[in-house]
Amino acid sequence: MPGIAASQGIAYGQIFVYLQSDVEVPSYLVEPEKRIDEVARFDRALVMTRQQISKIMNEVEKNIGPEEAGIFDAHLMVLEDEALIGETIREFESTGRNIETCFHKVSSRYVQAFSEIDDEYLRERAGDLRDVAQRVLHNLLGQAENSLNRLADQRIVVASDISPSESATLDRSAALALVMDSGSKTSHAVIVARSMKIPSVVGVRNLTAKVTNGDWAIVDGYDGVVILNPSESTLFRYGKIQEQKKSFEARLLEVNRQPAVTLDGVTVSLMANIEKSEEVTKARTYYAEGIGLYRTEFLFLNTARIPSEQEQFIAYKTVVEAMAPLPVVIRTLDLGGDKPMAGKTDLFPKENNPFMGFRAIRFCLEHPEIFKDQLRAILRASTYGKVKLMYPMISGSEELARANAVLAECIAELKAKGVAFDADMEVGTMIEIPSAATTADLLAEQCAFFSIGTNDLIQYLLAIDRVNDRIAHLYEPTHPAILRTLRYVVAEAHKRKLPVSVCGEMAGDPIFAPLLLGLGIDCLSMSPSWLPSVRYLIRAMTMADARALATQALGMSSPKEIYALCDAFYRQRVRMD
Ligand code: PEP
Ligand code: MG
Repeated sequence: MPGIAASQGIAYGQIFVYLQSDVEVPSYLVEPEKRIDEVARFDRALVMTRQQISKIMNEVEKNIGPEEAGIFDAHLMVLEDEALIGETIREFESTGRNIETCFHKVSSRYVQAFSEIDDEYLRERAGDLRDVAQRVLHNLLGQAENSLNRLADQRIVVASDISPSESATLDRSAALALVMDSGSKTSHAVIVARSMKIPSVVGVRNLTAKVTNGDWAIVDGYDGVVILNPSESTLFRYGKIQEQKKSFEARLLEVNRQPAVTLDGVTVSLMANIEKSEEVTKARTYYAEGIGLYRTEFLFLNTARIPSEQEQFIAYKTVVEAMAPLPVVIRTLDLGGDKPMAGKTDLFPKENNPFMGFRAIRFCLEHPEIFKDQLRAILRASTYGKVKLMYPMISGSEELARANAVLAECIAELKAKGVAFDADMEVGTMIEIPSAATTADLLAEQCAFFSIGTNDLIQYLLAIDRVNDRIAHLYEPTHPAILRTLRYVVAEAHKRKLPVSVCGEMAGDPIFAPLLLGLGIDCLSMSPSWLPSVRYLIRAMTMADARALATQALGMSSPKEIYALCDAFYRQRVRMD
């Protein structure tokens, strides 16, 4: 079945269908003589859910801390809620419908009622209630293991879609591959899969409806295909391809420690993108020369409350110390858009067009208390190594000036209290909105570096929602509009001696890396696991050829032809066999 090749690699194994929050609940009448059993079944599901939550609570307490474990108290309380349980039983007695249907109906009514209350604490209870209700339903439906962070065994995960917060819980050791009905190459679940080197194919329409748990499949993340119940000969063919790719990967790792220097002697700076502090180990393993993008919003996802300044300081300090003396570019919060904070509907009200909405720096400037906590935490962490700070989604020079003014306030506060920070910390701007790109000359006056977020820049320049699979084929990084914009930003930055990096997914794709370097990009920042492929390619090409490639591409009009040119450049220099 065809889809979009989202993360390279091949996997063969059994499918695990991940049911999203909205579980499909079957509805049927229960025969009168089986009604006692039905109530007993409900009791068992409640007990099982309680045991599961207590187990998670113990693990969280052991691995993270008692305060975080306390969050699950609220979950346990839901299971003891007389009103919820009593109403479910009464609904069952009056309708005779299966207990899942009754529980789903009653719990949904409660969730709805809580989420409409004008009180933050009670609204948050709606999130707890929804989580627990899903767990009870999974248990009733015999799908207790349906959780992304505890796969029973090694499995190919098939889902209709996975949110960024869900993807952050993906069990790295057990997920053989990730396949989604929807999604695109730059949706966050895919970025996470790619960073974990998990093969992924997305946009496979209705796959979740066509497969069941335990089906066998091959996932080909190179060509973007999923083959259900493959024949012996197909398995043999894919086995051969897999062997070839494995030996190629081994070759890549041989140059892992070598510097990224082109054949004509130009050194390229290669950095890593991370979302969690644990990923610094990977960045170190693949010899990243620093962290080029630390997506700090992941500290805020999967948590019931906003992390305090101190908690953030500890997280940033851990990364900064682990990378020192190499630089760490800490990006301020990019919440909203495809990364809203779960359950915080007061901070992130539902929007019709979230990617164009209340997101990133727009959110921070309207919530200075949250923004300032983060800025102070970053400043404090700056004395433990080399920190650079970067704002996401800047749209123009006034917005950048406002952000810098808040930063200046934080600096003054710390100075007044005698708290140490690096007074020379560089501040940079992401270029990911067309208006920022076209005013790069103005922005350059107010910051020390640019980092181009091609994931968003492409979506906004081409008006292609980056997570909409229906138009994913139109999401073309080689569109002349992108190339011309990159050329302009680099020229304006270099005129003022500002370095420019790219930290979008384009940077880690060996097909696009030479084009970016040829356009004058100084540094590429990518998921750590892609560093070896890009390093290998850089060592096999000349910068003169990369410049010629960019010049030729800039003279062309068709995105597909430019892509073919880049692809040929790559294949002429890197052979898999
Ligand atoms: C980008 O937009 O390219 C980027 C790096 O930011 P994010 O993917 O987190 O939006
Ligand atoms: Mg972005």
